[in-house]
Amino acid sequence: MRQNLRGRKMSQEDLFLSADEKERYLRQLSMADWSEEDQLKLKRLRVTVMGLGGAASSIINNLLLLGVGKIEAIDQDTVELSNLNRQFIHNVDHIGMSKAESLKIYARRLNPNVKVITTQVKIDETTIDETLDPKTDVIIDTFDKWAYRSIVNRFAVEHKIPYLMAGVVSNCFYTALLHSPHTPCLNCLIGRFQDPSVVGSFQTAIFAINILPIAAMGAFSIAELIKYLKTGESTNQFYFGSLYNTKQDIRFFTLFLSKHFKKISQEQGVKWGTVWESEGMTKLKLSKDPACRICGNSQFDEKN
Ligand SMILES: [Zn+2]
Repeated sequence: MRQNLRGRKMSQEDLFLSADEKERYLRQLSMADWSEEDQLKLKRLRVTVMGLGGAASSIINNLLLLGVGKIEAIDQDTVELSNLNRQFIHNVDHIGMSKAESLKIYARRLNPNVKVITTQVKIDETTIDETLDPKTDVIIDTFDKWAYRSIVNRFAVEHKIPYLMAGVVSNCFYTALLHSPHTPCLNCLIGRFQDPSVVGSFQTAIFAINILPIAAMGAFSIAELIKYLKTGESTNQFYFGSLYNTKQDIRFFTLFLSKHFKKISQEQGVKWGTVWESEGMTKLKLSKDPACRICGNSQFDEKN
């Protein structure tokens, strides 16, 4: 029996592309660096997406169009009018509907080959173990609060699940595919989510946000996932992209950075402040924080 990257047995339908799929994906199958085997790797992929807002809209849209096998999506909210400048998997007919249900309708119309399972639940320390599947192939965390992300990160580290974290701040975006114990975990990089002096200043903020950095983030994030599918390992890179060279307020990202992340940034010539003023992509090679309280003294071996 053949197995996927995470050792899960494949079903019979995971071994072939149907005639419908071959026609649907014809143009991407024609790309020089994209084979039928690559398409099958995508078809076999089970992805868990945390949150169904703007970042998830961009990411899920790409997953649906590219032809991933199965999406399990988790969100507790309902659709509101003020979501619709960016959360394009939802629409005006779905205001008041759960985002989970709204996604199902969007996905069915866009690509019925993709299985979509949704759960409407608030993720916290008490619900995560019963909600998330430890056998999932990758967790994509689009939550907008670092405290929630830390709960998801802990689950990913414990079960050695690749963890794609992605988000936007002003007209900038960031993404990294982490896979502890081979790479750092989220806590190695973003360590100040429990610091009251940092968290308190964001309690009542309404974050300015539009679709442009979200769209760019979705492309870069899923490109990282495809690189992982093709090679079996994370690039261990952090990407920070900026659409304009005007003053961008990025404190929602930088105030939470760990000392370790600031140190490796500085070593690579990047200095973070509360404002970002350059255009284009910044790339950083990542490393683990030996003192990380989540993955620093990992009880897990290095085999998986
Ligand atoms: Zn760590």
